[in-house]
Amino acid sequence: MSEKQELIDLLTGIKSSRKSYYHELNQAILELQLKNKQLEVINQLTRLQVNLSWEEASYYIAVQVGQVLSFTCFALTLMEGKTTSSYIVSTDTSPSSVQTLRFSELENKPTLSTVNRFIEEHQGSTGTTVTMRNHVGQVFGFLTLLHRETNANTHEDLLFFHRIAEQVAVSVENILLFKDVSDKVKIEAQLLQSAKLAAIGEMAAGIAHELNSPLTAILGNVQLLLREFKEDRPGKMLQDIYQCGVRSKKIIQNLLVFSRQEEFTFEDLSLHDLIEDVFSLIGYQLKVSGIPVEKRWGESLPLFRGNRYQIEQVMINLLLNAKDALQQEKEPVITIETKVVKKDSKPYVSFSVRDNGTGIDEKILPQIFNPFFTTKEHMKGTGLGLSVSLGIVQAHHGMLVAESRKGEYTKFTLMLPGKGGVDDHE
Ligand code: ADP
Repeated sequence: MSEKQELIDLLTGIKSSRKSYYHELNQAILELQLKNKQLEVINQLTRLQVNLSWEEASYYIAVQVGQVLSFTCFALTLMEGKTTSSYIVSTDTSPSSVQTLRFSELENKPTLSTVNRFIEEHQGSTGTTVTMRNHVGQVFGFLTLLHRETNANTHEDLLFFHRIAEQVAVSVENILLFKDVSDKVKIEAQLLQSAKLAAIGEMAAGIAHELNSPLTAILGNVQLLLREFKEDRPGKMLQDIYQCGVRSKKIIQNLLVFSRQEEFTFEDLSLHDLIEDVFSLIGYQLKVSGIPVEKRWGESLPLFRGNRYQIEQVMINLLLNAKDALQQEKEPVITIETKVVKKDSKPYVSFSVRDNGTGIDEKILPQIFNPFFTTKEHMKGTGLGLSVSLGIVQAHHGMLVAESRKGEYTKFTLMLPGKGGVDDHE
């Protein structure tokens, strides 16, 4: 071979006779193009955004991988704590229609073969699964390609699929880290919020204590004056002062209960009396919001044992949440209903608040009793109302149940064990 031929071989990477030279050159160009495409895909996979949901991430990876490998379905499987989930993208799905499979059936930590079998059975096609390892070498997830026919990918394809898995593992670990950090930031924000609340609670308690004594003096003196001027005009004015004083005292007592500085005494209570008290406190707020309240009183309600202020607090929370849900409603209405219900042949007094407001999405319904869960805008919601209410109701051996349909209505029902057959009107 001449020196010239050797030089050509070196420059082109092609060792051949002139006859097959162009054919081999074409091959080499195709291979180079494929290698370029593969590098581009790997590069794209490094750009997986950290704030994507798992469905979106899975869709993004599938689109990239689809440029160089053939498949009918792609699955990203992740083990997070005790749960393992697969996010399955078929070639004709959009990001919003990524299927999620949960591996509740698998008792032990899933392995490559169990994951492969599980996805194959679910999708009814042949799969190739590779593992994803984190930076310390532990398996934390899998990638699966599903095909209609076996051996759809060559040995080189499979090697490349392993490389993809290595790159995706890095990007997915970044997402996990991001989620971890944002959870921590959220918890910190919640702690700050509860610290603020505790400070407000203490302040409110201090003010309430300060106001309590002068108010007692005002009320006592007004009562004395009322005896002297019963009928005439000053009498009417004094009566007004007395009523306002009583109302202020109630508000103060509520503040003390809220800040938990009041002793919790249990007594026999009438549900209807408590509702009256609650409306004397927040009826005005509902009125100025233009929300009519329909009251459906049940008959012969038994008394129940409980702490007046705590149960009133639960009722206030339910009513104010109903009011908030009705802000945008054209024809808002709150319906409250009382009745006796039997549970395990024991009587319970039941109080329900129904509003025709925004309703609650069934996805978030299970979360509304969680502390700090709120969908209200910043500074409006604390996410504590329902969790505190549930705590109070459970301490009373009662139940608090929520039902709702998004865009239609929400109904909360509070049930408390009644005293056997005693009529609260007596
Ligand atoms: P907050 O009112 O501070 O958000 P809550 O614990 O009282 O806290 O309520 C938690 C969440 O439950 C609310 O943010 C809201 O999403 C939902 N919720 C409660 N009551 C209603 C209601 N009547 N209608 C619609 N959503 C409600």
